Amino acid sequence: MLETVDTAIASEEDMLSCDRETLRAAIEDALIHTIGKDPQIATRRDWMHAVAHVVRARMVERRMYTRRAFMKKQAKRVYYLSMEYLIGRMLLNSLLNLEFYENCRDALADLGQDLHELIDVEMDAALGNGGLGRLAACILDAMATLALPGGGYGIRYEFGMFNQQIEHGEQVEHPDNWLRYGNPWELPRPEKVYMVHFYGHVVEHQERGQTHYHWEDGEEVVAMAYDLLTPGFGKKNVNSLRLWAAKASRDFNLKYFNEGDYIGAVQDKIGSETISMVLYPNDATAIGRELRLKQEYFFVSASVQDIIARHLDLGYAVDQLGDKVAIQLNDTHPALTVAELMRLLMDEHHMDWHKAWTITQAVCAYTNHTLMPEALETWPIALMDRVLPRHMQIIFDINFHFLNEVRRHFPGDNAIARRLSIIDEEGERRVRMAHLAVVGSHRVNGVAALHTELLKRYLFHDFHRLWPERFVNITNGITPRLWLHQANPGLCQLISEHCGRDWIADLGQLKQLEPLAEDPAFRARFREIKNANKQRLAKLIHQQLGLTVNPEALFDVQIKRIHEYKRQMLNILHIVAYYNRIRDGRSDEQAQRVSIFAGKAAPSYMRAKQIIRLINDVAEVVNHDPVVRKKQQVAFLPNYEVSSASVIIPAADLSEQISTAGTEASGTGNMKLALNGAMTLGTLDGANIEIREAVGEDNFFIFGMNTQEVEDLRAKGYRPRDFYEANHELREALDMIRDGFFCPADPGRYRDLVEDLLEHDTFMVLADFESYLAVQQEVDALYQQPEEWTRKTLLNTARMGYFSIDRTVEEYAEKVWGIDPEDWG
Ligand SMILES: *Cc1c(COP(=O)(O)O)cnc(C)c1O
Repeated sequence: MLETVDTAIASEEDMLSCDRETLRAAIEDALIHTIGKDPQIATRRDWMHAVAHVVRARMVERRMYTRRAFMKKQAKRVYYLSMEYLIGRMLLNSLLNLEFYENCRDALADLGQDLHELIDVEMDAALGNGGLGRLAACILDAMATLALPGGGYGIRYEFGMFNQQIEHGEQVEHPDNWLRYGNPWELPRPEKVYMVHFYGHVVEHQERGQTHYHWEDGEEVVAMAYDLLTPGFGKKNVNSLRLWAAKASRDFNLKYFNEGDYIGAVQDKIGSETISMVLYPNDATAIGRELRLKQEYFFVSASVQDIIARHLDLGYAVDQLGDKVAIQLNDTHPALTVAELMRLLMDEHHMDWHKAWTITQAVCAYTNHTLMPEALETWPIALMDRVLPRHMQIIFDINFHFLNEVRRHFPGDNAIARRLSIIDEEGERRVRMAHLAVVGSHRVNGVAALHTELLKRYLFHDFHRLWPERFVNITNGITPRLWLHQANPGLCQLISEHCGRDWIADLGQLKQLEPLAEDPAFRARFREIKNANKQRLAKLIHQQLGLTVNPEALFDVQIKRIHEYKRQMLNILHIVAYYNRIRDGRSDEQAQRVSIFAGKAAPSYMRAKQIIRLINDVAEVVNHDPVVRKKQQVAFLPNYEVSSASVIIPAADLSEQISTAGTEASGTGNMKLALNGAMTLGTLDGANIEIREAVGEDNFFIFGMNTQEVEDLRAKGYRPRDFYEANHELREALDMIRDGFFCPADPGRYRDLVEDLLEHDTFMVLADFESYLAVQQEVDALYQQPEEWTRKTLLNTARMGYFSIDRTVEEYAEKVWGIDPEDWG
């Protein structure tokens, strides 16, 4: 039934007040009556939780207002399904988006508290690995800011991304117990529970001449909802992110109780709850573990059941789902949505195959994030059949219908049918999740222009021949609310003085800064802000590493997951080559530089962990050499996460985006850094290409092979040793690393790493070295002309408006979700 809402909509004036005095009273009240602490002995965390409750209360009201407004419009809903959300801290984000930061700061001052000290107490919500999870968080911010009807679904991991510590130069992982002190932002919904079924078998029976399927026996886990509110900037709009936690099913435990096995029942409860216990810390690598498959299905089943329930609650019929709901699959992790939606429509809502399939395709769309084979998810059929027997049947049926279409389209071409099949028949038979996602979706998108072109040319070449209109590009973006408004208050102030405040929700406004790049006074202010941000980062480096760095030096920044394709190795080789130049007295033209690294390695990715150790070993030698350290220093900042990114990025001069061409789908770190006035040093890869077009070739350092050249070299037979022989500085640097110059106590430590580079060098580090070293010299030269440097970095900021996540989400709404702009808030 559709509620009558006109009279129920809270008027804006009726909403809880956010003035200084009201906030002061509310915070004090929350501290005493909700947190239960005497203000005289309350800790910073107590105060932070009290403020969070006060802010949350104001978001809840706006959420209700939003919900009612969308209901009245009967708007189509968009649900973003992602296994990861890399959110970070929520206090400052909420205060700034709701626009009562100043009042809250003043109210706290009246209570003798410093807002920024409270902000720093909050732990990051790190429910994601890297770019993919951060993109999901940025998309929710844009959906709320643009007032798009809908929200996100994810998993409430008990333990998020591990905490990285560096001990004796090596990464050590510590569990991220982020819920230890409770989470004041979440709203538990104990009444929002769904059963999620695993194992068992399928029983077929006839009813009025039709075949029905029943999934029986096995075990059930309860999914319980926790909501996080996501406030849009400025407007009254607040959306929600629903996260699922696994709870043991009561019914299932009863069986044990009846047998008198009380302890067995409790153990079983623990077993069920492991499903949402921990985030898999793998970036760009698929994990073939049964628990991971169960996590994926748990998440998908709860979300799809909830989406259908919300749709029916709004008074719609189930066959209107295709008109009223859009589901975006963030990578293939939620690809089981295709099979689960089919199962629910056919087995629970008694729809026939054809109708269910039309709806499923109309609802689903899939975003691909990678071309790398090791990242593509496949599940053995034997495993899928055991854990999800009904879904295995449905996937075979989908494949049967699909291959019929393929054969109609390409008669007699068995090879193409084999390549396109959802089932990989080579060796152990497996389900190809990307194929399931493509077949079940009406749109498939890549995340940067080059990435989408490469998808069409390689990974999805045959699909593209079959359904060219299904493939679209939607270049990633970043939210200006977090990455400029929150992270760089100094620059925001300057921008707003000249452009007004509209840029926060309309980043194209930054174009107004362009002419100011020619104004020396304005450049001086821009440079002062960068210097202040660099001083803040220098302080952090000193706190964390005990290393004193000169804020006047060039801050050369590479912050991202540690991965061979991202080529931190190339950066290290350059550092070693420069070290040698300085020691040999050949460094007159060099600028003073601090090389700053941060990033986590997947715990099982040995080579990546070795690279972290090498960075730290090189840092140890460089930073202790009394001659070299005057020109060059190296800092590895531990535990890269959203909150540390917010300090590093505004302080960067140079942004290292040096992946092998054709390997980085888009990158978003590149966008954050350019927006904050760093020069990019990059390959023609991912979104670097579009960033270069936007900011202008003259304002971007490019180097290395392009995709075609990489391909050609590979085809002709790449021999890394030839490059080693041909370049003296490269040879010297590699020899030093191989022979233990940076680890004299354990000289064999990097022998295998260097041997692997000389023999294989999968990501062509050696082939790009010479070009990289040459462009670094251009960087040095430009940095020593501060006026030119500032002019170019300012033009970077002015021209990055295109990379706002708001533009990205508007493209999804138009090209993929079919949302009428009338339906936006
Ligand atoms: C933006 C971001 C990333 C992605 O960085 P890339 O350079 O695009 O790989 C990873 N981790 C965090 C914490 C981020 O904020």
